Amino acid sequence: MQEQPESTIPADRSLAVFCDFDGTFSVQDVGSTLARERLAERRRQLWSRFEQGEFTAWSYVVELFDGFVLPEAELVAFLRTIQLDPGARGLVDWCAAERIPFQILSDGFDWNLERLQEIHDIRFDFRANHLEYEGDVWRVAPGGPDPACDCGTGTCKRRLIAAYRVRHPNAFCVHIGNGRVSDRCGALESDLVFAKDTLAPALLEQGRAFIPFDDLDEVRRTLAEGLRAGRERAQR
Ligand SMILES: [Mg+2]
Ligand SMILES: [Zn+2]
Repeated sequence: MQEQPESTIPADRSLAVFCDFDGTFSVQDVGSTLARERLAERRRQLWSRFEQGEFTAWSYVVELFDGFVLPEAELVAFLRTIQLDPGARGLVDWCAAERIPFQILSDGFDWNLERLQEIHDIRFDFRANHLEYEGDVWRVAPGGPDPACDCGTGTCKRRLIAAYRVRHPNAFCVHIGNGRVSDRCGALESDLVFAKDTLAPALLEQGRAFIPFDDLDEVRRTLAEGLRAGRERAQR
């Protein structure tokens, strides 16, 4: 067992919370569930090529989804099957009440995140890749890749968190995620990390401390406790 990091949030730093969407803020992963249900054969073929190192994370997404034929109504019906983590709404509401900046960093698509906010009647700020429709056909574009980062994703989370830090040098950045590919670089860039699924062993391998979690209620409680502990320490 590795040691857990200090979860106290220093009172002289301003907390900012970054959170992955697929499998972290939502229960199901939108892209991989859709690919499994609708593009099983293509996904199988591409996955073996991906494992042989033929693609970056983003070029794999392009091969898989660019040109995907899926009428908008069918996509919306599919998105209605995506559930949010039981603590998702509570975390967003708590951040708003405490005036803590909260942003979803997603390697999924903006189109889906806009619809999912309507479906669940929830609002959040986000950064993601771009999807637009050409008739019934998907056209995809990266949201903010960083060729200097080894994640290879379309929306590099390290780059976004690092850019936030430049604008807010006093920020105490928290990242919450579940994916080895899309969350590792953002996690390494953060001051405090909550990790589950494949992100947890990836961070263990790098000797990077994190707080394991099952749902976002736990994350919210730990953050609230961390803030309280930081304020208390500052008053001593
Ligand atoms: Mg994820
Ligand atoms: Zn990256």
